[in-house]
Amino acid sequence: MAIKERSAQEDVRLSFDCAADRLGLPQGVCIMLVEPWRELRVSLPVRMDDGRVEVFIGYRVQHNAVRGPYKGGVRYHPHADEDEVRALASLMTWKTALLDIPFGGAKGGIELDPHTLSEAELNRVTRRYTRSIQHLLGPHRDIPAPDMGTNAQTMAWMMDEYGQMHGYNPSVVTGKPVELGGSAGREAATGRGAVFVLTEAMRDLGMQVKGARIAVQGFGNVGSWFARIAHEEGMRIVAVADLNGSVCNANGLDVPALTDYAREHRTVAGFTGGENCRTEDIFSVDCDVFVPAAMENALTEENAWTLPAKLVLEAANHPTTPEADRILRERGIPVLPDILVNGGGVTVSYFEWTQNLQQFSWSEERVNEELHKRIVAAYCAVAKKARETGYTFREAAMDIGVERVARAIELRGFV
Ligand code: GLU
Repeated sequence: MAIKERSAQEDVRLSFDCAADRLGLPQGVCIMLVEPWRELRVSLPVRMDDGRVEVFIGYRVQHNAVRGPYKGGVRYHPHADEDEVRALASLMTWKTALLDIPFGGAKGGIELDPHTLSEAELNRVTRRYTRSIQHLLGPHRDIPAPDMGTNAQTMAWMMDEYGQMHGYNPSVVTGKPVELGGSAGREAATGRGAVFVLTEAMRDLGMQVKGARIAVQGFGNVGSWFARIAHEEGMRIVAVADLNGSVCNANGLDVPALTDYAREHRTVAGFTGGENCRTEDIFSVDCDVFVPAAMENALTEENAWTLPAKLVLEAANHPTTPEADRILRERGIPVLPDILVNGGGVTVSYFEWTQNLQQFSWSEERVNEELHKRIVAAYCAVAKKARETGYTFREAAMDIGVERVARAIELRGFV
């Protein structure tokens, strides 16, 4: 990981400040949009399997709820500290506004490496965390979801723990297992939404979808579902990287076989259907589209000058530093921004929440259709604004999101 002088919050703030300037937002509104409305830091003492007690640190940052209840994932990662969670919480506010779903923005996290804990330990940490933040949560208050290091099982534990205190209420979290009120299509939704955005953008940019060469950095929930669906759409996944290495095949990887391999070995490294390379080699693979689908700060000034792609699709949250963003712009490489590209996850979370409130469930087909409608509408609004103003896709997306939140503040008569 590159050494950074600024914090994640400062990076994200920079992008907001530029939007506020372009929009000419009044100072009072700016202040309300910068500071998180509420945040909580909790110590989580947990009995480990060997009898020791460990204390983990957790957070829930509620950035803004002017357009609806707080909404956002819970991340389990050693770097899920205050700074990162705050930055990601504000991105959720712009994302839900851009997708035009009736939520605000929040994020939670626990500083831990989930791979070093047993299933039983993760269950206990999750329950302790849920108990510690339960007074902030509620179906009309704050609705967590999975993020990096968490999944449907984590949400099932959260729902169960919350239910023990407040009564059965599945709409308090989204991204649950389908058997417990989760939505069909939620697990694949972020990857699917990213494919929908990419397909529209390629058409607009005059790029061929079938046979397009795609390099994917990260093969967790988002990267693997993106690769599977892009492969089904006839794109060629020419390289996939994770923390342990990368596999490359200029003719296109056999993605279903790679997915099975990765599920079994918990890495793509060692897959025999391509050449095995180092993790960082993903940044020099010849491709049409580069898809960062892992951590923050993947694209930096160290690799942005030489990245051999024609288009960047930000499936991860905040994967491009402001310097790399500027370099890619100078090189004429469009960047489709995170708050648009990975908005499919929270969009289907919204469908899950509405299904739970109505005690009715939709077919996967309907979920995917509605997702397509919403994310393509958001893409079209961003592309139109970018075309009309000469702004980058990120600038256009930020302006639309921030303007909607600012308008809601004005309508509510806060300031
Ligand atoms: N963690 C996902 C995100 O960053 C999903 C959030 C949600 O569904 O609330 O967008």
